[in-house]
Amino acid sequence: MWSQRLKHQWQNSLRNILIARQYQRVRWVASGGILASLGGASWYYHQYWHEVELSPDYFTKYRVSHNAKLDSEHFLMELTPLKPQRVNLWSATTSNKLWSVEVKQPEIMVVRNYTPLPLKVTTDKKVQVLPDGKFESGKLLFYLKKYRYGEVARWLSELPEGHIVEVRGPFVDFELPPFEEKRDRSFLWDDNAKLQSEQFLQQPYDIAAFTAGTGIAPIMQLLLKENPFPGRILMFHSCHADSDLGPLRHLLDKLQDYHRAKLYLFESQRANDLRKISDEVLKLIPSPMAYHAGPFVGLNSSISPILSLVCGPDSYITTVSGVKYDLSQGPIEGLLGQKGWNNSNVYKLS
Ligand SMILES: Cc1cc2nc3c(=O)[nH]c(=O)nc-3n(C[C@H](O)[C@H](O)[C@H](O)COP(=O)(O)OP(=O)(O)OC[C@H]3O[C@@H](n4cnc5c(N)ncnc54)[C@H](O)[C@@H]3O)c2cc1C
Repeated sequence: MWSQRLKHQWQNSLRNILIARQYQRVRWVASGGILASLGGASWYYHQYWHEVELSPDYFTKYRVSHNAKLDSEHFLMELTPLKPQRVNLWSATTSNKLWSVEVKQPEIMVVRNYTPLPLKVTTDKKVQVLPDGKFESGKLLFYLKKYRYGEVARWLSELPEGHIVEVRGPFVDFELPPFEEKRDRSFLWDDNAKLQSEQFLQQPYDIAAFTAGTGIAPIMQLLLKENPFPGRILMFHSCHADSDLGPLRHLLDKLQDYHRAKLYLFESQRANDLRKISDEVLKLIPSPMAYHAGPFVGLNSSISPILSLVCGPDSYITTVSGVKYDLSQGPIEGLLGQKGWNNSNVYKLS
């Protein structure tokens, strides 16, 4: 009797121990599973959502999806984000802002700014303007020049398609006086678009742009992007030959045909160097005009710039508008100084 009770008790405690162990095992397995799922979720988040959207605060990975030489120095590069972007920067960035991104050279840990253009490369390698609302899931296309001893652009020019680079931004480089107007630009991709007379709510203002080499990129951004600049741009562009511009040349013709810009081209190859013919150039540069804000009264027949933007190598900036110091604009001298422009209406972009 006594031994049977003892046996019964022993069996009960053994069963309890087994149940407790099983319960413990289930708990371990369950908590292991939860931890694994949390780990998986955090890995998934990190891979797919963390630091994926382009931001000035961290670098986002892009793949070189097109790298094509235009000549021995200039090239077009398209970068495709590894993860499709959700934000269309062409409609999200306010129209009056000029913006660029920084590309990192990881071997020497330096960054350089480059100005994206609202263009895409088609499957047959043609360059087209992105229509309104389209942003190719965040692809960025750049017009670039490599310098013989320059660090970053030379490195970029040699990158094969598929190479991963890191990009952060956007950074605002300059903000023009605000404009809110919508403006049709379908002529940029539709060869049959008609030249129509335009109506605006507010009287638009005009600007002048003095650019050399890839310094033309910010002005092309302003002219080509969604909600483009509503006024007209008087452009003075210096280059070795107009072929340096690659597909931008054709777009500049269209912009002129549709009265968005007037271009004076100075090709050093044709001995048409702005420095050597400064008397002629001075005749083409207007003095700064006053802007009378108010309801739209119509577009003038001539371009009346109220602001001049200057963008190019240091020596070019000095010729056109006087020396630019690292952290300050410096005085307005050079060609613009001679025509009465000053620090209130000239901005020297780097
Ligand atoms: C807002 C902004 C937007 C820009 N957008 C564009 C753009 O869209 N496209 C574009 O192509 N560029 C753009 N740039 C210019 C770009 O950021 C770089 O400055 C350019 O690519 C040169 O960088 P790098 O590293 O190749 O040359 P760097 O190493 O900076 O050299 C620059 C110059 O110095 C010379 N140099 C270098 N080392 C020496 C040396 N030891 N002795 C003598 N000379 C030397 C080089 O030959 C070159 O002429 C932009 C710049 C800014 C600020």
